[in-house]
Amino acid sequence: VGTSEFALIQQFFTQLTVGRDDVVLGIGDDCALLQPPPEYWLAVTIDTLVADVHFFADADPQTIGHKSLAVNLSDLAALGARPAWVTLALTLPEPEHAWLAAFSRGFARLAEQHNVQLIGGDTTQGPLTITVQAHGFVPVGQGMRRAGAQVGDLIYVTGTLGDAGLALQQRLQGMAWSSISEQLRSRLERPEPRVQAGLALREIATSAIDISDGLWGDLDHILHASRCGAHIYLERLPLSPDFIAARGSEVDWQLPLTAGDDYELCFTVSPVNQSEIEAISARLQLRITQIGVIEAMPGLRCLREDASQWSPGHAGYEHFRNAD
Ligand SMILES: [Mg+2]
Repeated sequence: VGTSEFALIQQFFTQLTVGRDDVVLGIGDDCALLQPPPEYWLAVTIDTLVADVHFFADADPQTIGHKSLAVNLSDLAALGARPAWVTLALTLPEPEHAWLAAFSRGFARLAEQHNVQLIGGDTTQGPLTITVQAHGFVPVGQGMRRAGAQVGDLIYVTGTLGDAGLALQQRLQGMAWSSISEQLRSRLERPEPRVQAGLALREIATSAIDISDGLWGDLDHILHASRCGAHIYLERLPLSPDFIAARGSEVDWQLPLTAGDDYELCFTVSPVNQSEIEAISARLQLRITQIGVIEAMPGLRCLREDASQWSPGHAGYEHFRNAD
């Protein structure tokens, strides 16, 4: 990529981002200069998305732009951080204007929604790869971690599970995008990071994680970090109407349990705060479902209504590794 083309690529992004007062120096110098608020910690996260590993290379570039930022905002949400700044490293086979325009539009729309400013980046030539680093703020002493779940805590998830996994499964099985439910497809391509939920839960949740690799694996991270175990109730896992419609009466629990890409939050709360969670759910108009309980015995047990145990098998359709 030549110097003039590089400058052109930069234009796509400098024109489209929000301006924040805490950015002393943004794109254009050798470094950005930033002024974090006093009495706040800086939360930092980074994710790399590789074409045909983490997303379809021929996907609508606007959705790629959206998702590359969304997965990072989801990590900030898991900690309860308020998003502020973002950097972007873009590796492209060649700078195609239409692709870049659409990509930056998807990126910028989500950035605007969360008042996130792009403060710098880099562009190189090579196989399509997108690296995004996001920064957010959390009051000193706060921030939800994976460690902290206590025996007796209730386990919750936001939203619904398995939608993105089902869209991906249907696509990989050869279904045309046009035959796949718009709702399910949107969950795969345009995940909505649960930033507001993260902020609301920050002082209540004893532990939290975002679900990028599937509930089973991600909840297990909480259990390991918190040195405890859990049981969850299979029939309580929240499913969307489109998921149920697509699967009929024969629900494949494998998907909501092990498919990634939903980018919902999984968190634990002391039972005394149960009504607080219901209030947050109502205020944010966000489905929040209690799916299980933390217990002392290590391991994750999945119970059916008849109290029998159920274990997920190997997820053979998982061709994509997810950003975490
Ligand atoms: Mg994560």
